[in-house]
Amino acid sequence: MSSAYKCSRQAPGAGTRRSRGTGNVSHVTHPSNPAATPDLHGVRALVTGGTSGLGFAMSQALAEAGAQVAVAARRRDRLESLADRIGRDRVLVLETDVTDEAQARAMVEDSVREFGRLDIVVNNAGVMLLGPIVDAPIEEWRRMVELNLLGLLYTSHAALPHLLRAAETDPRQVADLVNVSSVAGRHARLNSGVYNATKFGVGAFSESLRQEVTRRHVRVSLIEPGAVSTELITHNRPEVIEGLRATLGPIETMRAEDIAESIVFTVTRPRHVAVNEVLIRPSEQER
Ligand code: NDP
Repeated sequence: MSSAYKCSRQAPGAGTRRSRGTGNVSHVTHPSNPAATPDLHGVRALVTGGTSGLGFAMSQALAEAGAQVAVAARRRDRLESLADRIGRDRVLVLETDVTDEAQARAMVEDSVREFGRLDIVVNNAGVMLLGPIVDAPIEEWRRMVELNLLGLLYTSHAALPHLLRAAETDPRQVADLVNVSSVAGRHARLNSGVYNATKFGVGAFSESLRQEVTRRHVRVSLIEPGAVSTELITHNRPEVIEGLRATLGPIETMRAEDIAESIVFTVTRPRHVAVNEVLIRPSEQER
């Protein structure tokens, strides 16, 4: 793995440590006043699936708010152009297939080695392969389970010790694990059975983990978008794409930036506030 990140080892957020349990208004300036412009300077983040769609927009939004961002996906050329666009000093390029447990672990460890720590992890990489269950190509089910569930689990397992440490010792005194689910993680629909199963699974895992770590100030958040214009549907068989367009109808979908904005909002709440779930649809999407 080669890295595009030029590492600055200066301790970020020096002098901003929160004094605990005083009940005073001696707030640290970091993270920002929630009403102000989001400020993630000194924060280290990792985003999976950053080469297109939501992950690309999130990586950009987190970096614009001041974070240094490790961006992981399989397509190296896309990762490199993302780094060029955002700025090589803000981005660590990690060519990773998160369905491979060893690669997922290496992705987390490389981020920590380069950044010194990890404050925010966004489990975003996912695939949606739709169609009837009867006679479905089993390979499509396997791809969804391996990426949407196992990839997310491998990444979470590897990242949690680092997030727990960040919540205890780092300037923000809080860390964030953001899991990207879907409206499909709330409502099962015809022709979406296995995608639903993976996203319901993400929701169940996230809620159980939330209860386990929330008192240790690792916030586990679930983002559940409706239709967003990305490459997501293009991975389906042509007849499925046609059916999907007909079902959804001519609605104005969301932009990836709309979801990125909600993630920046989620991770910039003050330490005592945890946004557990964000269900976000295009205004014109009924179901
Ligand atoms: P895209 O297809 O545009 O992006 C998917 C990303 O995942 C790409 O960056 C891809 O990069 C990466 N990825 C795919 N396989 C792997 C892998 N094995 N290892 C690492 N990265 C991988 O889709 P979206 O941006 O739309 O989807 C992002 C998330 O949002 C998904 O979890 C999806 O379920 C969810 N979502 C999307 C909605 C939408 O309408 N778009 C609605 C609700 C939820 P690469 O190919 O380079 O590896």
